[in-house]
Amino acid sequence: MSEKDKELFFSSELLGWYRKVRRDLPWRRSRNPYHIWVSEIMLQQTRVDTVIPYFARFVERFPTLIDLADAPEEDVLKHWEGLGYYSRARNLQAAVREVAASYGGEVPADKESVSGLKGVGPYTAGAILSIAFNQPEPAVDGNVMRVLSRFFCLEEDIAKPATRVRMEALAKRLIPEGAASDFNQALMELGALVCTPKSPGCLTCPVMEHCEGRMAGRENELPIKTKAKPPKKVYRLAVFIEGTREHAGRVLVRRRPATGLLARLWELPHVEAPNESVWASSESAGVWLAGSLAAEGLLVKPKDVVADAEHVFSHLHWYLKVWTAVAEDASLLPGEADDYRWVGPEDFDLLAWPNVFRKLVSDYFNRDFY
Ligand code: SF4
Repeated sequence: MSEKDKELFFSSELLGWYRKVRRDLPWRRSRNPYHIWVSEIMLQQTRVDTVIPYFARFVERFPTLIDLADAPEEDVLKHWEGLGYYSRARNLQAAVREVAASYGGEVPADKESVSGLKGVGPYTAGAILSIAFNQPEPAVDGNVMRVLSRFFCLEEDIAKPATRVRMEALAKRLIPEGAASDFNQALMELGALVCTPKSPGCLTCPVMEHCEGRMAGRENELPIKTKAKPPKKVYRLAVFIEGTREHAGRVLVRRRPATGLLARLWELPHVEAPNESVWASSESAGVWLAGSLAAEGLLVKPKDVVADAEHVFSHLHWYLKVWTAVAEDASLLPGEADDYRWVGPEDFDLLAWPNVFRKLVSDYFNRDFY
């Protein structure tokens, strides 16, 4: 079979299969480019099952691009809470504001404009243009590269940018005329349901007959991907600063800066320990914690360790030991002007938190620590 015939076989079998078996996902029920855009951003690094309820809640609250553009950021982050990678939500809102301001509120249907929007990389641009506008643009992510590497038995390292460029050229060539929307979704569907990272279901695969990776017995070795470095371990000490008098029953929390990691989300005050052994020893950690917090204007006395927690980012792994502490003089603590706030069980849920702190604060108020 010639290379050309193999490509034709792949495209037509895959498309026919998808049209028969495709899942009924909420963002597939229309060609609304804004909804497709939201779903694609949510689906980055997150499983379909997890995304479904978030997507429903999000488009119910922000049904149109203009609703999202006009919403307060805090509200958007609150509706993203739990999905992680919050810069995606912030970029999405910045981008829809740009669409509202520069494109009359309509998602642009040309590659240059859509690719210029904040947070829209080549994959998302391809997904929007193909799925919503049926334009023959490839949408190549890790799943698609896995399927193509296996079917065509490609040994190039998919972690390399040059491989992605070649895969995009191949994926574009494979798009059948007039069927970009369904075909790109078919590729994604095959990667999600059949040609899965572990134990691909070759026996039920619509393109099994000419799959070179399978015929070479290499479906479990492909794709080739050099390993990323493991996230750096960081040991941090967090604290529940417990209120007294008018703040009794509440804890002091702070908002992160407007840029950088977890920007503008709320958290317990926390500091980095110099090393794992200080972090692990209650005596040295207590002294270190008091000193580091004092340097940030928080004059408190650490009391007890009440919880351990972890938070993993793509490049960092936080190990948190969580203490309770009392203020020596609560009137000297920073306040709203410095992005600090006392919260209690009745209002902490109104703020947007990274998962790890949301759980800690919720457990604290439920007294799961005691
Ligand atoms: S036959 Fe197996 S390895 Fe080949 S594309 Fe299908 S599921 Fe993937």
